[in-house]
Amino acid sequence: MKQGRLIPFALLGHPVGHSLSPAMHNAAFKVLGLNACYSLLDVPPGGIPRTLEKLRAQKYGGLNVTIPHKEAAYRFLASQGKLSDVAQLLHSVNTVVFRPDGTLLGDNTDAPGFLDALREAFRTSPRGKRILVLGAGGAGRALALTCALQGAESILVADVNLAARRRLLLALRQAAPGLPVAGASLAHARIAARDCDLIIQATPVGLHPGDPSLLPPEAFRKGQIVFDLIYNPPVTPLLATAQAVGARTANGLGMLLHQGARAFRLWTGRPPPVAVMRAALVKALKTRRS
Ligand code: NAP
Repeated sequence: MKQGRLIPFALLGHPVGHSLSPAMHNAAFKVLGLNACYSLLDVPPGGIPRTLEKLRAQKYGGLNVTIPHKEAAYRFLASQGKLSDVAQLLHSVNTVVFRPDGTLLGDNTDAPGFLDALREAFRTSPRGKRILVLGAGGAGRALALTCALQGAESILVADVNLAARRRLLLALRQAAPGLPVAGASLAHARIAARDCDLIIQATPVGLHPGDPSLLPPEAFRKGQIVFDLIYNPPVTPLLATAQAVGARTANGLGMLLHQGARAFRLWTGRPPPVAVMRAALVKALKTRRS
């Protein structure tokens, strides 16, 4: 990354005000002495093509993309730019790189960030695991497909949205022919969960005060790994229930951190200062909760 003028970076989303990404990236720029600033841009639905063109002309250093724009960014870059293998697999872009020759690269660091977080928290990977994914939306889809390609033993998908569940099962069967995959109602997931080695919680249930645990205590067992993508609150009712019976748990902060660290490396070519980024996230989260 060339230095001199202030280089802008941004997260595009709608809504976007809740994001902790500016704290993490601005702390990283500061500690490395980079003249750069990361901000939030609220982009209404339909606004991605125009916004990407505009920010390219304004010489942004790089972008993140979040709900509801990841698929729109994928579609734009499929026709007007280049896509990484991961973005192509997931049909979703969360990181845009403006390359020196003026072209745009769409990548997705969410799923690799999840794998980094899983490795960091539990020294493990999806390989050989029976996996339950709760939620077949953007994040659940990305993580289920990644687990399939990382050698999962089987994948069970539960979602109240039957169309999303069906779409994900189809994508899994195409991406990993021969891998045992199945759909489940929540009632069935509550019974089948106990036999799974890794449970990934990728629904919004747990974000709001009063939300229940999607799974009861009988769904968990000692030694099982339970990964909830939610990080605020840090312990969702699902994680509290799993912890109470001795399951090993992690919230989504590690995934947020590592997807950000990977994006930082793609934009700047520098090793991300992960410890600084983590501390900034933890501090911002504490401020938000107090
Ligand atoms: P999404 O695209 O809206 O997908 C969520 C899915 O869960 C939808 O299919 C939704 O169905 C389903 N769902 C809602 N309530 C349910 C219930 N009671 N039981 C079963 N399924 C239910 O959202 P997303 O982008 O995938 O995000 C999912 C969660 O992950 C959010 O909490 C988000 O904050 C978190 N996340 C964390 C990170 C991180 O870095 N830590 C990254 C991405 C996402 P409907 O469509 O019918 O509502």
